[in-house]
Amino acid sequence: MSAPVVEVRGDGIAAYCCTHLLRKAGIPVRLVRPERPRVPAILISEAALHLLRDIFDSPSLLANSFLIRQRIVAWAAGQGVSRMDHRGYVTSEQELLASLLPDGETCSAKPDFLIYSSNPLPAGVNQQHLGSRAAIAWRAALRHGCPPAACMTESLPAGWLFLLPDGAHSAWLLAVGDAAGRPLGTSELIAPYIETLSEASSPFPSHPRIATQLAGPGWLACGSAAMSFDPICGDGTALAVRTAILAAAVIRAHLDGHDPASLRQHYESRVRAGFQRHVDLCRQFYRHGFGGPWWEDELAALDAFTPGTPEPFRYRLRDLTLEAVSD
Ligand SMILES: Cc1cc2nc3c(=O)[nH]c(=O)nc-3n(C[C@H](O)[C@H](O)[C@H](O)COP(=O)(O)OP(=O)(O)OC[C@H]3O[C@@H](n4cnc5c(N)ncnc54)[C@H](O)[C@@H]3O)c2cc1C
Repeated sequence: MSAPVVEVRGDGIAAYCCTHLLRKAGIPVRLVRPERPRVPAILISEAALHLLRDIFDSPSLLANSFLIRQRIVAWAAGQGVSRMDHRGYVTSEQELLASLLPDGETCSAKPDFLIYSSNPLPAGVNQQHLGSRAAIAWRAALRHGCPPAACMTESLPAGWLFLLPDGAHSAWLLAVGDAAGRPLGTSELIAPYIETLSEASSPFPSHPRIATQLAGPGWLACGSAAMSFDPICGDGTALAVRTAILAAAVIRAHLDGHDPASLRQHYESRVRAGFQRHVDLCRQFYRHGFGGPWWEDELAALDAFTPGTPEPFRYRLRDLTLEAVSD
């Protein structure tokens, strides 16, 4: 009998991570990469970078990236500005994915298992949207006097801004919410440092969303097809990688003969628990953002999320392998 084949549909970090881990385990994988816009700039925390280097066996990943050393935040209205030490690496999604594109034989056999890491999901599976906010990015030239290597976050009456330098005098400006139309409108922290802005990018959805079903017989959803994160959490890349690690482990356990229904239930429970933690974190940010109708609406959309009854976790992940937990 020929070895079972897995098809991964997606072109993001989650799809690449699943493909890499399954091929490393000797499982033939076909990676199908639909085209989509790339997020122009992302900040990878030190912990996330260690995870990426470890999982992808790539010890020098992003070694030459611009290093952020400080985070400056003006969040709740009237609460002043806080400055914190921070270590993070600036890259673009394009650059990150180009360094991590899995190599290995692609196979043409009919797949036995499908991983959906991009839409569309299987018929009848939808996504629950917690809000509707979008983000727009601009390339920014910075004025002299801008604090060096500092990223800045600022809440506004109807949205928020994130300034991410990638050089001494250049940065990406991200605006989420109604801030997108007139990005620097009421900004007091970030606007004084901006010399010029380029043309705006097309909008990226930036509210949390989760699929109504995360796994079924012969398939599972992973990455942003399973759940997407609000960029306010600052850790979406690492969260996508962690879901992909679990997805690859579930498939390996399935092929090793573990009960498929128990594995699907475990996967659903784990992914939903991770999403619940993300929603809880977002609630804290949006509750204390600025106040006013825009923030109240976004908070109400987060509050509308009902996680469902938590199921017990049936497996534990050890060294990228699932082990059954005895009752
Ligand atoms: C504006 C923005 C800024 C972000 N900043 C950071 C950051 O600083 N640090 C960090 O760790 N993570 C950040 N993220 C999150 C990170 O990009 C995603 O969590 C990660 O790329 C998900 O990978 P994936 O393989 O699951 O998703 P994929 O399905 O490959 O999607 C990757 C990203 O592209 C977006 N996307 C997918 N399809 C489309 C489409 N058709 N049109 C428009 N957008 C699409 C998704 O919403 C997702 O954010 C940001 C996301 C956005 C939208």
